[in-house]
Amino acid sequence: MGVYGSDRGEGAGEFLADRQAEIEAAARALAAGGLVLLPTETVYGLGADASNPTAVAAIFEAKGRPRFNPLIAHVADVETAARIAVLDDRAMTLAKAFWPGPLTIVAPIREAAAVCDLARAGLDTVAIRVPGHPLSRAVLAAFGGPVVAPSANRSGRPSPTTFADAFGETGDKAAVALDGGPCEVGLESTVVAVLDGPPRLLRPGAVTRAQLEAVVGPLAEAENDARRSPGRLALHYAPDAPVRIDAAAPEAGEAFLAFGPWPDGERVFNLSPTGDLAEAAANLFSFLRAADRTKPVGIAVATIPGEGLGEAINDRLRRAAGYVG
Ligand code: AMP
Ligand code: MG
Repeated sequence: MGVYGSDRGEGAGEFLADRQAEIEAAARALAAGGLVLLPTETVYGLGADASNPTAVAAIFEAKGRPRFNPLIAHVADVETAARIAVLDDRAMTLAKAFWPGPLTIVAPIREAAAVCDLARAGLDTVAIRVPGHPLSRAVLAAFGGPVVAPSANRSGRPSPTTFADAFGETGDKAAVALDGGPCEVGLESTVVAVLDGPPRLLRPGAVTRAQLEAVVGPLAEAENDARRSPGRLALHYAPDAPVRIDAAAPEAGEAFLAFGPWPDGERVFNLSPTGDLAEAAANLFSFLRAADRTKPVGIAVATIPGEGLGEAINDRLRRAAGYVG
């Protein structure tokens, strides 16, 4: 029984007697591309290796998420964060004041491969934090790299703040499930962007505006608040080239995102030659960017089935094509 274990739910599956063995098992599962149910001080997360697009796609699949939102990368310490993101003086001041803790900093990505395109929804920025829960920090330190971990609930359901609730939501999808007791904070992290101009509050959370302003001065208002920008479109990578969905074939000058068997060719990017939706999800943002880099007159995209992860893929493509504001 672990040091933090206090509310292990019934049917929680086998648990490891020794806490250190649990931590190592979680780190190994992450390295192997598996999902880990992870306690943090905010809510329970479903974690995956942030650098592994297939593992990240598996998170979206497990949550049944109809959209690909950028995810928060969790790391063990400030040094690891500064290796992955460009943390300027203001970001470092915030990090030193609130980490480990429930503050997420959005900053330019430095080491793009460490947090894959799917985890960043194709953006050139990354959301990063050092969580305060000792068990998740121990797993992050043992694993070494960033772990993306959105709340462990299935899409549309409340965030779990106890092990039993978390296990009941997505425990069956996790290779390792860690019981860290009830979450102390129980509220999502505050998200603040430290890019050009004054820091901007993107999501209110456990760290208050007043606490932030006491450290870095007045915050700017988020320019894309939900009322003015439904769907928070600005949080997603938008290709320069116009996107045409449900295309049977590319037209002259177009790049083509194929799905299923399709001959190789210039400007052809096959999301999944075998028609596998998880593979297509893992490739989606990288291939959109790669297609865009060929400076085509447009990007044609094959029809993607709507079931499972196809719902989120199609949502993203409809946005890219301008059908959803
Ligand atoms: P969750 O992991 O479900 O707690 O949600 C992550 C939050 O961070 C969402 O509100 C995202 O929109 C936000 N987020 C993640 N990455 C970025 C980014 N690169 N830029 C702006 N917001 C981000
Ligand atoms: Mg959530």
